[in-house]
Amino acid sequence: MANTDLRYYFNTILTKGVKDNTYKFALARFLLDYSQNLTKEQIYAKLKNNEPETVDYQQIANAFLKYYWHQECKYRIRQNHNDAKPPSVVTTIRHVFGEHYIHRRFSEMPADIIKEAQNEIRKKVFGKEKSKTSQVIPRFQNIREGNSATGKPVFYDYDDNAMCIRIKPQALEFFNQNYTTLFKSVILEWAKFLEKINTLPRLIAKIESAEVKRTSLRKYVHIFRDFRHCFYCNCVLENDDTHVDHFIPWSYIFEDESWNLVMTCSGCNSKKSDSLASSEFLDEIIKRNKTYRDRIAELHKSLTGLDVGKGWEGEIRKHYENCKEYGFSVIRL
Ligand SMILES: [Zn+2]
Repeated sequence: MANTDLRYYFNTILTKGVKDNTYKFALARFLLDYSQNLTKEQIYAKLKNNEPETVDYQQIANAFLKYYWHQECKYRIRQNHNDAKPPSVVTTIRHVFGEHYIHRRFSEMPADIIKEAQNEIRKKVFGKEKSKTSQVIPRFQNIREGNSATGKPVFYDYDDNAMCIRIKPQALEFFNQNYTTLFKSVILEWAKFLEKINTLPRLIAKIESAEVKRTSLRKYVHIFRDFRHCFYCNCVLENDDTHVDHFIPWSYIFEDESWNLVMTCSGCNSKKSDSLASSEFLDEIIKRNKTYRDRIAELHKSLTGLDVGKGWEGEIRKHYENCKEYGFSVIRL
């Protein structure tokens, strides 16, 4: 099959058809990511011998855990329209890891917990057990043309008994060679689906990046050097004990902007972590921003960037409320 046909089918899968959850995007992403494990020589050898690449359902389940773990435990992105009945990959993650925001990285999670989640996802999403809730493997290649959908094994064959898919060598080559552009279209279509059911900022970036490297906040200590008391407990800040806190948690807001940054002591900073402070502090940060907007150039710039619609104050309040609604906890400081 020619590459133009593969491209057509891949795009059709992503953009057409009924979507009641996001599994097909996750599977598309998996196929792409998987193709990166092989060298050009390995793929060439497979093409020459017309030999498919066998991949266990378990491997796909492991990748699903990674993709959804960040979206759930870090960013709390809703994956379907029915809030009361999330897809089983999400209920499994909640069941195994708990429902609260996890401060640590995925790679720091205990191996036995990860294994438990991987097995559960394999059983629930890919297993042939009766409890299987998803048909993503068989249905992924149901390609809609006109009013009907036909199963076309364009990219892989699958075997529920052996619990594996067999990726065709041409597909492997196609994924490998076009990784960057195909990956971008998967993320874009995933985000287009999710933006209809989410009001979170920076949705695309959150879906795209698994482990994000955060940049240093030290420059803000200098920008806010006149603030010598902890924003929360009002203790005097020593120079080497001044911490920069995202008032609205970073995992929600996903950017470092002066309007949202306050100087704190180490105690308050680690206690607050990725939670919200109570609403009197919301009034406090708005007051701070009003008072210092014209005195600190960086803050002025940052607030101007936020000044849309009814103005920055409304935007901050909206973010605060929305963040709470997304399940970020409010703690006393
Ligand atoms: Zn403090």
